[in-house]
Amino acid sequence: MNRHIAEVSWGRDSLWMLLYVLEHPEQYPLDEVVFYDTGMEFQAIYNNRNKMLYYLAQRGIKYTELYPDNPFLYDMLERPIESKQKGRHNGYGWCGGRCRWGTTWKTQALDRHAAGAVQYIGIAADEAHRRAELTGTKRSPLIEQGMTEADCLQYCRDRGYTWTENGVDLYDILDRVSCWCCCNKNLKELRNIWRYLPEYWERLINLQERIERPFKKYKNKKYGEYGDLRTLQKIFEQEEK
Ligand code: SF4
Repeated sequence: MNRHIAEVSWGRDSLWMLLYVLEHPEQYPLDEVVFYDTGMEFQAIYNNRNKMLYYLAQRGIKYTELYPDNPFLYDMLERPIESKQKGRHNGYGWCGGRCRWGTTWKTQALDRHAAGAVQYIGIAADEAHRRAELTGTKRSPLIEQGMTEADCLQYCRDRGYTWTENGVDLYDILDRVSCWCCCNKNLKELRNIWRYLPEYWERLINLQERIERPFKKYKNKKYGEYGDLRTLQKIFEQEEK
């Protein structure tokens, strides 16, 4: 019989999925919970993981953590690379957008680990663009139960789970709680990190010091082309005044 694996990131969608699967074992048998840890998650993610590990251990459910082959920061900043556009250089730079090297490692590691198993994946009912990911034996209990991202967040909050850091819930200031260094973050999210999470902002600035490519590419009449995090910080400071 197939093994059944829940793949979790400890964000609202996969946390809802795990809670629901645990509450409905006849509909969703579960043998193992797997978390791929990039090492670049927000602390709140690790906090919710730690909270759930207790319940998994109580129920005797196997828990596995997978990791990238190299530390994330090594691949980002130091790994020797040969590319057509840039020739020899060090590090892939920011991860996100069309250059989601971290996601590639993650998907490959999870699929390798789950070979032959049924994989429960946390794709919400209102994430139509991600449905193509449900190939082979991959299932989304969220889609099957009609749960949107907002439904999942409410459900988790009703059960006492939050993603609070520095006095704010990450889901109140970010559209997605992914790696803190993910360059998919939009301007609103970056402004909120600068305003509410200065420690993470400092870490982002430190990375920008070591990565030539600007974090984002923006263009407007007032600032021309911008997107380097140091420039963005000056813009945020001016806005604040
Ligand atoms: S969340 Fe962003 S930074 Fe993290 S692996 Fe995915 S694309 Fe890369």
